[in-house]
Amino acid sequence: MPSSDPDIILIGGGIMSAHLGVMLKRIDPRLTIAVYEAASELARESSDGWNNAGTGHAGLCELNYTPPPSVAGAPFDVTKALEIFARFEQSRQFWSYAVAHGIAPQPAEWIRAVPHLSFARGVAAVDFLRARHAALVAHPFFRGMEFTAERDVLRRWTPLLVDGRTDQEPIAATKVDAGTDVNFGELSRRLLGWLGAQEGCRVFTGHRVTQLRRVDARWELAARIANSGEARSASARFVFVGAGGGTISLLQAADLPVAHGLAGFPIAGQWLVCENPSVVARHFGKVYGPPPPDSGALGGPHLDVRHLNGKRVLLFGPFATWTTKFLHRTGRITDLPRSIRTDNVGTLLRTCAHNFVLTRFLVREALQSMESRLRALRVFYPEARAADWRLVDAGIRVQALKMADSGRLFFGTEVVTAPDGSLAALLGASPGASVSANIALEIIQRCFPDRIRAADGHARLKEMLPTFDTDLSQPAAAADYARRSTQIDALLQLQPNP
Ligand SMILES: Cc1cc2nc3c(=O)[nH]c(=O)nc-3n(C[C@H](O)[C@H](O)[C@H](O)COP(=O)(O)OP(=O)(O)OC[C@H]3O[C@@H](n4cnc5c(N)ncnc54)[C@H](O)[C@@H]3O)c2cc1C
Repeated sequence: MPSSDPDIILIGGGIMSAHLGVMLKRIDPRLTIAVYEAASELARESSDGWNNAGTGHAGLCELNYTPPPSVAGAPFDVTKALEIFARFEQSRQFWSYAVAHGIAPQPAEWIRAVPHLSFARGVAAVDFLRARHAALVAHPFFRGMEFTAERDVLRRWTPLLVDGRTDQEPIAATKVDAGTDVNFGELSRRLLGWLGAQEGCRVFTGHRVTQLRRVDARWELAARIANSGEARSASARFVFVGAGGGTISLLQAADLPVAHGLAGFPIAGQWLVCENPSVVARHFGKVYGPPPPDSGALGGPHLDVRHLNGKRVLLFGPFATWTTKFLHRTGRITDLPRSIRTDNVGTLLRTCAHNFVLTRFLVREALQSMESRLRALRVFYPEARAADWRLVDAGIRVQALKMADSGRLFFGTEVVTAPDGSLAALLGASPGASVSANIALEIIQRCFPDRIRAADGHARLKEMLPTFDTDLSQPAAAADYARRSTQIDALLQLQPNP
């Protein structure tokens, strides 16, 4: 424990706390910061490489960011894809800054250039993909996007999608070479490693925060040390609850108005994994298909090359499955029942009643056999052999359900803050880790406005996130930015390198 209480406490040692902690320390080097992580290692929950898809979500391949027009022939709405692209750019800006300043060195160990593809089968889907490509390629952010409905071209892009498929079936794909595969766990550990080595900063692992309460003008927390069972306490003027699946219970403990009626519902993920080198060598890309019709905004299945534990592997999924745990590693099966209180039972029941189609989809997903998972894989890779694939657990996303939403499910990420800005927390999962720099920025703007109004704080933030005060939705600003951003690729060493 620090000899005196820090200015700031970050609860959770994942990608979100890592970004917020480093950005705050760089804006004001005098700040003292403590990180409390329940597990014995940092970033082994949702941010761990195996527990998410590692896609740098930039709107390049995810079809749910460009829904088809509701009226046939109406223009495509690409607003969401543009917004995600601009938010991901802020992560790339911050990461290149972190490389340049020795905060997260050796980028090849946590980020790689991997083409992002969208895949369509059938006449209607191919027409949709062609129209989507036409709408996106007109914008400077998506100028490098290619479209093909030619089998030979697609076979060159990735043979697994084509071989073994009948010639009668229309297929098409788009490809952007500038996509990325990010190991968010590795990156978090580097950022937190740097933070913990700074003056006035400490990172505690094996410290589970069990209580959070407001006392005078500070937040007091109680923590339990995993190894010894010993109790610890600390206090800070500002607390960030970046505890992933542990966030809702801590918000309930803090008794904030925003936590009233708040419920959490866990959805676990699973991947099919292939490590057979002869198959892995034939696929280099992240290929996203359309989301299944009933799946709400959970996103579509994808076939991805990943670099994990020093090895190149293929992942396919995610498949949703049931759990009552809120955390993959340190959660308990009692997490869901213990989170139900008189003020949120109505929220849970209303959400189930209003989302019958999604509930049915989740039940179907969870009851799937290995054979039906392989059938889903063969939609992408017709020649997939059962012997090459095994099922592994991915992370758990705890869907935040709010009373005010009248049962409507919200799948984005949302920053919630105490009315006086002394506490911030993150709810939701998607687009998640990819936009962590933008999320940290939002927290800093809402909770530390004075620090970035000061000339030196403003200049330091601008150095980390050059576009933090630029509206990239304006075409001229977007075109100018697209021309100038190549330096980021050089710093992150993003060379197309199959
Ligand atoms: C299947 C799946 C696929 C995904 N794919 C992608 C993707 O391709 N791209 C992308 O950008 N995002 C993706 N995401 C989302 C992304 O993984 C998350 O948004 C991100 O990792 C969340 O980071 P975090 O720091 O908020 O949470 P976490 O990484 O979960 O960190 C929270 C930390 O808090 C700790 N903690 C919890 N409770 C306590 C407590 N009481 N005291 C102390 N510590 C505590 C936990 O042990 C954990 O280490 C995916 C998610 C899932 C589930």
